[in-house]
Amino acid sequence: MQYFVNVILPIPLEKQFTYAITVEEAQVLSIGMRVAVPFGKSKVYTGLVLKVHNDPPEIYEAKPIHQILDDTFLVNETQLKHWQWIAEYYMCTLGEVFRSAVPSAFLLESETLVLLNKESEVDENDLKDDEFLVYEALQHQSMLRVHEVAAIIDRKNALPILNQLITKGVVILKEEIYEQYRPKLVRYVKLGKSYQSESALEALLNDLQRAPKQSQVILSLFQLEATSKKPIKVAELEKNSGASRAIIKTLVDKEILEEYFIRTDRVSYDGEGDTSNLKRLNEYQEEALLAIRQSFEKNKVALLHGVTSSGKTEVYVELIEECINAGKQALYLLPEIALTTQLIGRLQDYFGEKVSVFHSKYNIQERVEVYNNVLASKPKAQIVIGARSALFLPFANLGLIVVDEEHESSFKQFDPAPRYHARDSAIVLGNLHKANIVLGSATPSIESYHNALSNKYGYAQITRRFGNVLMPEMELVDIKEQHRKKRMKGHFSERLLLEITETLELGEQVILFQNRRGFAPILECDTCGHSPQCPNCDVSLTYHQYKKQLRCHYCSHHIALPESCQACGSPTLDTKGFGTEQVEQELKMLFPEVKVARMDLDTTRGKHAYAKIITSFEQQEVDVLVGTQMVTKGLDFRNVSLVGIMNADSLLNFPDYRAHERSFQLLTQVAGRAGRTQKRGKVIIQTYNPYHQILRQVTDGNFEGMFKEQLYEREQYKYPPHNKVIQITFKHKDYNRLNEATEWFAKGLRNIFASNVLGPEYPPVARIRNQYLKHVLLKIPAGQSLAKTKISIKRIEKSFNAIGSFRSVRVIYNVDHI
Ligand code: ADP
Ligand code: ZN
Ligand code: ZN
Repeated sequence: MQYFVNVILPIPLEKQFTYAITVEEAQVLSIGMRVAVPFGKSKVYTGLVLKVHNDPPEIYEAKPIHQILDDTFLVNETQLKHWQWIAEYYMCTLGEVFRSAVPSAFLLESETLVLLNKESEVDENDLKDDEFLVYEALQHQSMLRVHEVAAIIDRKNALPILNQLITKGVVILKEEIYEQYRPKLVRYVKLGKSYQSESALEALLNDLQRAPKQSQVILSLFQLEATSKKPIKVAELEKNSGASRAIIKTLVDKEILEEYFIRTDRVSYDGEGDTSNLKRLNEYQEEALLAIRQSFEKNKVALLHGVTSSGKTEVYVELIEECINAGKQALYLLPEIALTTQLIGRLQDYFGEKVSVFHSKYNIQERVEVYNNVLASKPKAQIVIGARSALFLPFANLGLIVVDEEHESSFKQFDPAPRYHARDSAIVLGNLHKANIVLGSATPSIESYHNALSNKYGYAQITRRFGNVLMPEMELVDIKEQHRKKRMKGHFSERLLLEITETLELGEQVILFQNRRGFAPILECDTCGHSPQCPNCDVSLTYHQYKKQLRCHYCSHHIALPESCQACGSPTLDTKGFGTEQVEQELKMLFPEVKVARMDLDTTRGKHAYAKIITSFEQQEVDVLVGTQMVTKGLDFRNVSLVGIMNADSLLNFPDYRAHERSFQLLTQVAGRAGRTQKRGKVIIQTYNPYHQILRQVTDGNFEGMFKEQLYEREQYKYPPHNKVIQITFKHKDYNRLNEATEWFAKGLRNIFASNVLGPEYPPVARIRNQYLKHVLLKIPAGQSLAKTKISIKRIEKSFNAIGSFRSVRVIYNVDHI
């Protein structure tokens, strides 16, 4: 009997691959384990076993696998079912899901290694200098990576020399698999073996009398050992003895001390946590909790619609406690941007070590550790809080999923595939586990609210802020009029300035929101109208004053700020529009003694940068926080009584059917940062259109009105929630070929779906990183089968790919695009 495995490879090919295995391998291999397999001429990939069987493939001879990489499964069967749903629904391959679902360290890579060819006799005189260096290095090290070879011979490109060495038979190349993940090891010390006896020790201390620093180290070690039974870290000893690392090393070299290593988990939190700290819910929270439980009993997803600062988090905390008391795992999903230290801190206060955080800003090692902890169902990962990718952790026994800020568009993965929506995929995952699911928001998405109204979801509501704090007072300021009356100072209206002054005088804090980062989105010549463009993208460069640079926000291109116009040479360069940097600068000029901080993509790049800004604002080291979207999300600042929205119009004018819904959500959320304590907060919204419907709805807190109006429009124009949409993006570096290809594809679609095909159309930025883009939007009316529609699209794609000149055009599907 022959044995085979079907594996998924982390590549965007539709099919599974079959490899041959031995009987012994068949006995140990099971679904979800990894194997290293050969692919193509010399590549090695990590495959994930989907099936062990006895049917040889029909059209090719199965190659044997290289080796088995796991003792037990890395991916469980529930995960595989979930992946299958994602691949099918979001129109991508299982391989693509595999690639993004496990930390990349689990996807072993092949990397070229060079070894000495033991079989050949080498005549050293025959080697040139560089060649000899490599040959000699390989006498000491069994293998070298190509880049290490380059370092040895001090050249960028080692390949020519390696080629010569191969021709001369001196070295051979090897495709080698290596694990990227290395557990973090901590260095510890103890007394060397030969000094364990008392007499040896006495002799040693006598010997060291002339080396006071060394003997101090030994004495410190004794002291540490006496006070604690735990192993002594090198770092600890260093600190305690005041000795340098060099002195400790001398002692290790002399074998007086012995070094050893213990593996530690990187992601650690010291603290017990204490659920007796749990807050007593007020009557409104209790009522909401009851409604949520009732939805759960009917196996329904619950939507918790609670105004900002109504205490939703405390409701989730109750649910989490119930879940973990039942011995199950809980997953708390948050939009990427909102992963605040604030919330993590709150949960850790209650649940201590049981909380793990899974975040793309954490490094590979940390993510691997959380993955492994969840896989082993360790108590320390019983509650996982994370952004969308936390959905892919190997939960065995999920009891609860919380999707906080469920309306957030960053739950949708944009690039690369799978382009999944984490909220919707969480619901599918929850159902696979028979887990309870709660979606929460102060401004639910049209989709979720619609599902609640139509009884598909359960619904719970909190309409009051906790502690009966009033919702903030909102005021629209017409900046057109203020300009006319010359009442503007920079981008600040008189009203806003007055409110800022009063707030600061009372020792309270201010948040200012502007939707763009940088200083100004456009630099324009007043003489000829030229504005510098990105050479790679069809977009103007944004002016960043702090770095004196023009930067492209779509690719990494940047140039130094030109002193004069590149087109006509005149020095009449002027800025148009404004971003957070400019707000910050004007503010510093208007209020020289006030401390201002800025929070946007430019100031929050490092892992802890975001937390630092939040902490300093929390501790009132900063008076005014200027920021983009980032300031809108779920932050709870006690002392903020004024929120200013610098310009609401840039949000409203977005060319997108969700622009109005989004503006409502964003403005309501940012306003919700104001006045979270007893004193009523204030929100000033500056706009050129004070009569705009959405702005009125925001200031009136009229969610219902917004919802009804948007739903009506969505139905008129066949957009979700009643209808589905699939956006198809085409990408190519050649403008003409892209046009031709898109027309062809759109025609194929129109033959079947007629007027439900929109486009092809260029997006607002029609070229990014030298690739032209074009979109086709397919609307799928309620009642039309989504599955059949996808089959038709795939059929068209197949014929499309059969046309030689189209094959290099990339086709990207985005189901439920937002
Ligand atoms: P939301 O998530 O709805 O915006 P939060 O959960 O952040 O609201 O709650 C707002 C504030 O009210 C927080 O500071 C929180 O600690 C406090 N709070 C909420 N519920 C309670 C409660 N039951 N007892 C005491 N304080 C509460
Ligand atoms: Zn010019
Ligand atoms: Zn660019």
